[in-house]
Amino acid sequence: MKIEIRAKKKFGQHFLVDIEIAEKIANSLSYSNYDRILEVGPGTGVLTQFLMKKSAELHAIELDNESIPVLQSKFPEISNRLYNEDLLKWNEPQIFKENKFALIGNYPYNISTQILFWMLSRRSQIPEMVGMFQKEVGVRISSEPGNKNYGITSVLTQAYYDVEYLFSVGPESFNPPPRVQSGVIRLKKKSTEPKIEYDILKLIVKTAFNQRRKTLRNALKSLNFVTNKVLDTVSGQRAEQLSVDQFISLSQSFKNVI
Ligand code: SAH
Repeated sequence: MKIEIRAKKKFGQHFLVDIEIAEKIANSLSYSNYDRILEVGPGTGVLTQFLMKKSAELHAIELDNESIPVLQSKFPEISNRLYNEDLLKWNEPQIFKENKFALIGNYPYNISTQILFWMLSRRSQIPEMVGMFQKEVGVRISSEPGNKNYGITSVLTQAYYDVEYLFSVGPESFNPPPRVQSGVIRLKKKSTEPKIEYDILKLIVKTAFNQRRKTLRNALKSLNFVTNKVLDTVSGQRAEQLSVDQFISLSQSFKNVI
């Protein structure tokens, strides 16, 4: 029996139709250092069919309740590991709070940056991530300093993960075709975390890039930074000129006057 699902715009649905690409995405995880994988937005299960064959235990979260019976009939083995929820509002089962897992998916592009932030706030549980993003977003995450694509997502992700842009995928590989190019990236957690509170790093990076044309002295004014050596050294520069390590040092030096 073939069950058709009509793609819904509100869920950012663009189903992958190129099986080779689906397999290539599934093969991009290393499957080492964790026993579980979480697929976000399996849809009709194009990627799921390959992830099922891997040794790690597959879990999948899908918002669209029309997809659920389709997935259950195609993959009865994972019926009790299929969650009909919104990832961003999900109170994940304890196993995901205590154990390591890899994140994978052909993500809904309307929330792909939020998925990235979801991952960053759970980074101690997530040693690896492979995902299809809108190409522009994938390029931004993997960008280096000095480049106009270098921004908030680049710095915050690269502070904790080594990022690789793997390959691009054209609209013809999807049904319906998206209006944009897509790109697959892989993130591997760095062996050591920088000694900095994530929320402080996030605050500084966001504030710096929100006024990216200004020098840091002006862009960071609203934070009432207590002047210090690190700040003095970089204050004449703009956010996009600073390396990830410099953002980390700047955040470590952060004290403010209230
Ligand atoms: N992996 C499938 C579908 C990709 S489209 C394929 O490659 O063909 C993105 C999928 O994410 C859709 O199935 C959509 O319903 C689902 N989705 C959208 N928002 C979601 C959310 N907040 N949480 C979980 N899944 C979501």
